[in-house]
Amino acid sequence: MKGLSILGATGSIGINTLDVAARHPEKYKIVALSANSQLDRLVELCKKYKPEYAVIADETLEEELSKQLKNINTPIKVLSGVEGLETIASLPEVDYVMAAIVGAAGLKPTLAAARSGKRILLANKEALVMSGQLFMDEVKKNNAELLPIDSEHNAIFQCLPKDYSNGLAESGITKILLTGSGGPFRTKELSELTNITPDEACAHPNWSMGRKISVDSATMMNKGLEIIEACWLFNTSPDNIQVVVHPQSVIHSMVQYSDGSVLAQLGQPDMRTPIAHALSWPDRIESGVEKLDFFSVAKLEFEAPDYERFPCLRLAEESIRKGGTAPTILNAANEIAVASFLDNKLSFTDISYVVEHTLKNLPSREADSLSEILEDDLAARKEAEHLVKLKVNG
Ligand code: NAD
Ligand code: MG
Repeated sequence: MKGLSILGATGSIGINTLDVAARHPEKYKIVALSANSQLDRLVELCKKYKPEYAVIADETLEEELSKQLKNINTPIKVLSGVEGLETIASLPEVDYVMAAIVGAAGLKPTLAAARSGKRILLANKEALVMSGQLFMDEVKKNNAELLPIDSEHNAIFQCLPKDYSNGLAESGITKILLTGSGGPFRTKELSELTNITPDEACAHPNWSMGRKISVDSATMMNKGLEIIEACWLFNTSPDNIQVVVHPQSVIHSMVQYSDGSVLAQLGQPDMRTPIAHALSWPDRIESGVEKLDFFSVAKLEFEAPDYERFPCLRLAEESIRKGGTAPTILNAANEIAVASFLDNKLSFTDISYVVEHTLKNLPSREADSLSEILEDDLAARKEAEHLVKLKVNG
């Protein structure tokens, strides 16, 4: 029996994780659930899954959460804030931590899971983008286990040899082929992109996801963040990663070998497959996902990425090549720009403007401490907010 703590339980990944885990009550015990401020949803989940701990990140809601949970006949310990999140990521009765908080807010609790040597099921790619070296060092130092939930990285992990610790090239790997659907605006007139609304940007053709990652998919910043994520997870450089646009999202990514073989992982666009894979690895369990029917899929298409249409993809690649805190700055500026877009304060095409100019205006540096990374993250947020204001005021 493995104890499971879910950071970001009320989100899209969190709910899918609960769905898979609940199919195997003999294997997984839900020890802790967390939410940012969605009190009602968290209470509902607590009633259904009866965890030992419930954490609300918004400290002002702790009292109300305690009050509402008193009515449940199982006692549930209530915590709040970042400290509460760090606690449930490090409890001795927790074996697996699902890191599914969106954005930089997930960094500290995910680091806490690494420092306590847990199996980390990593969905929160922003944490890895902003502090790749530091995070990977903590994983190694504390013998934590890192399993990718992002469908592409989970696919790559499945296609890699068991042991590639000597490096990808030494293991006969010539390229990682990172697939992406191209999002909802792959074929839209470029001139129409300025007036896109948040709801249009969030209507992904294949995947149902939270709003931030949906916008990232529409700008293809998501694919850019995934290049950076892959560099850290698989200890490689962007030179060894090729983005392949594949509108059907049936192939979730591929690995090309020196003998000409290409291994791919295919499946429905349903996050319960990578979640089930990472929960049960190296075994396999039932995930509830419908089996892939090749006759209804019928065709698979591939295209090269369009860097003019998707400047965020170029910005992300440039930032990982530059190194140091450039990806930290990119990520922070993007979080501000996307939030402003979702808030109807910034146009869709200005997202890349804000990210590009934040990167131009701020120096990046080598940073090996969390405090330096957080300093640059904060500076980038301030600069991006300033740029958004300038845009708002025309
Ligand atoms: P979501 O918006 O649906 O859920 C986010 C969760 O994080 C919620 O539980 C929310 O309460 C919590 N949260 C938000 N801000 C917080 C804060 N400041 N402090 C504490 N908790 C906070 O997002 P999602 O789609 O589930 O994505 C979660 C993560 O997984 C993201 O990093 C995303 O990039 C990654 N991911 C998601 C998918 C997907 O299919 N949804 C696929 C690949 C990767
Ligand atoms: Mg992905």
